[in-house]
Amino acid sequence: MTLDDPSQAHSERYHCCATCVHYCAKRTDAGVHTYCSRLGYDTRPNWKFHCWTPKEHIIQRLKAKQFSNDVTSEK
Ligand code: SF4
Repeated sequence: MTLDDPSQAHSERYHCCATCVHYCAKRTDAGVHTYCSRLGYDTRPNWKFHCWTPKEHIIQRLKAKQFSNDVTSEK
């Protein structure tokens, strides 16, 4: 099984800034500041962009989901 582009397979459930390797959250006196370390902008956990780069554990979940779908579709 290969998963060349995890953003194309079963990613709707996980696709958001919170699951991206570039998502950062820092506690400040004003509250929690959430931002993108790649672009330098503020962001929110549920916002969704095409620059998404899923974290490793998300890639593993997507691969597992694709594998389970591949197995069930072979039946
Ligand atoms: S803006 Fe793009 S690169 Fe930054 S955290 Fe969100 S999805 Fe990732």
